[in-house]
Amino acid sequence: MEIKIIGGGLAGAEAAYQIAKRGHKVILYEMRPEVTTPAHKTGFLSELVCSNSLKSKELTNAHGLLKQEMRILDSLIINTADSTSIPGGKALVVDREGFSRSITEKIYTNSLIEVKREEVRDIPQGIVILATGPLTSDSLTDKIKALTGQDNLFFFDAISPIIEGDSIDFENAFFSSRYRQDSDDYLNCPLTEEEYDIFYNTLVTAERVELRPFEKTPYFEGCLPIEVMAGRGRQTLLFGPMKPVGLIDRRTNREPFAVVQLRREDSQGNMYNMVGFQTKLTYREQERVFRLIPALRNAHFLRYGSIHRNTYINSPVLLNKKLGLKGREGIFFAGQITGVEGYTESSAMGLLAGISSLCLLKGIEFAPPPPETCMGALVDYITEEKRDFQPMNINFGILRGYNKRRKNMVIDEALSLISQWHEKINQQLDRA
Ligand SMILES: Cc1cc2nc3c(=O)[nH]c(=O)nc-3n(C[C@H](O)[C@H](O)[C@H](O)COP(=O)(O)OP(=O)(O)OC[C@H]3O[C@@H](n4cnc5c(N)ncnc54)[C@H](O)[C@@H]3O)c2cc1C
Repeated sequence: MEIKIIGGGLAGAEAAYQIAKRGHKVILYEMRPEVTTPAHKTGFLSELVCSNSLKSKELTNAHGLLKQEMRILDSLIINTADSTSIPGGKALVVDREGFSRSITEKIYTNSLIEVKREEVRDIPQGIVILATGPLTSDSLTDKIKALTGQDNLFFFDAISPIIEGDSIDFENAFFSSRYRQDSDDYLNCPLTEEEYDIFYNTLVTAERVELRPFEKTPYFEGCLPIEVMAGRGRQTLLFGPMKPVGLIDRRTNREPFAVVQLRREDSQGNMYNMVGFQTKLTYREQERVFRLIPALRNAHFLRYGSIHRNTYINSPVLLNKKLGLKGREGIFFAGQITGVEGYTESSAMGLLAGISSLCLLKGIEFAPPPPETCMGALVDYITEEKRDFQPMNINFGILRGYNKRRKNMVIDEALSLISQWHEKINQQLDRA
């Protein structure tokens, strides 16, 4: 029985390659060029819809480490990116057309992969990987909605920035929940009236990223960017995400003039989310403006805020660690639709879903790579319970046991663990 993969983007092509290289047949469905998405422009598989950069090459950057782990796992996407790279400083930048053309050729010349150019409107029988991405076609979206439940499928990211815990000035912040001084659920960053005015005036004039026409809807969905909210008047934020009511600063025993609330993203406090600070400011402007908040003056941004069109499922509720749909054995999800963010992260989930689906077919119990690796940390992030699930790119903050002071050891350990995992899973699959 062949494994069916819906979506010939980054995740789908990677999954197909991983299955076929282990000797198994795949049918890969891609709707382009007949039916297209608002962002794709060609009929190539694995088209890069925006930037031609796969981010940092450096091992000391989590993006670089993830790519290195994927090289160890013989990733089609990363190997092709390496072979079609063009100069890009510390980033892995590719020749856009050369990259997608090369992937398309490799997939078409693989005798175990059959490519069908058609829009899939229903979820097929058998073992299936859904890798239709952030711009999944409408008819299939309806079917996924029926499968997952309306409340577990999202259409927009309204992402707030995430700050590295170590970079916050705790002397200028206090733990408390609204009306509950004994709670440490929120870390509050106070501003005086003077500090607020400087922050406010800088925010409303800061440079923004323009929304594309197909991304305009979120403004009607109650997730306004912080700068748009601010544009409605000086008081608006003080009655919204910067409301100080019920938050007593123990140092002064008073409510501050304004407050930015941070919420832990992980139990260790490596990462803090800026609550309600979804934004379309450019990344550089986010640094400049948000560092005007005294407790964040040295903030290191692990993830920048954004708002964009993105179809993704509530993976912490729906998926198990095999990237399979709970209660529906044989249906897997891969790529951006699982709630990871970015080209490499999407490909990484394709790689794992490909291997996992093959394990199911061969009766092998699949366990993802350990959470001390970037690959395993991404699986943990999308499958472990969360209050507000928002898509995530790779960063060191999500690696289990990460500690900035032992970064080099963390990197060595991740690479060694991923090699061991690769060897073990290949042995299991070879024997089956
Ligand atoms: C506008 C936009 C810009 C982005 N820019 C960047 C960026 O610059 N850098 C970055 O790292 N990430 C970016 N991303 C996020 C993400 O990394 C990419 O979207 C990435 O391509 C996701 O990979 P994927 O394989 O999950 O989905 P895709 O690469 O989108 O692949 C999904 C494929 O499924 C096909 N498909 C959809 N529905 C069906 C169907 N019913 N039947 C058959 N085929 C179907 C699509 O045509 C597509 O080829 C961007 C996302 C968007 C929406």
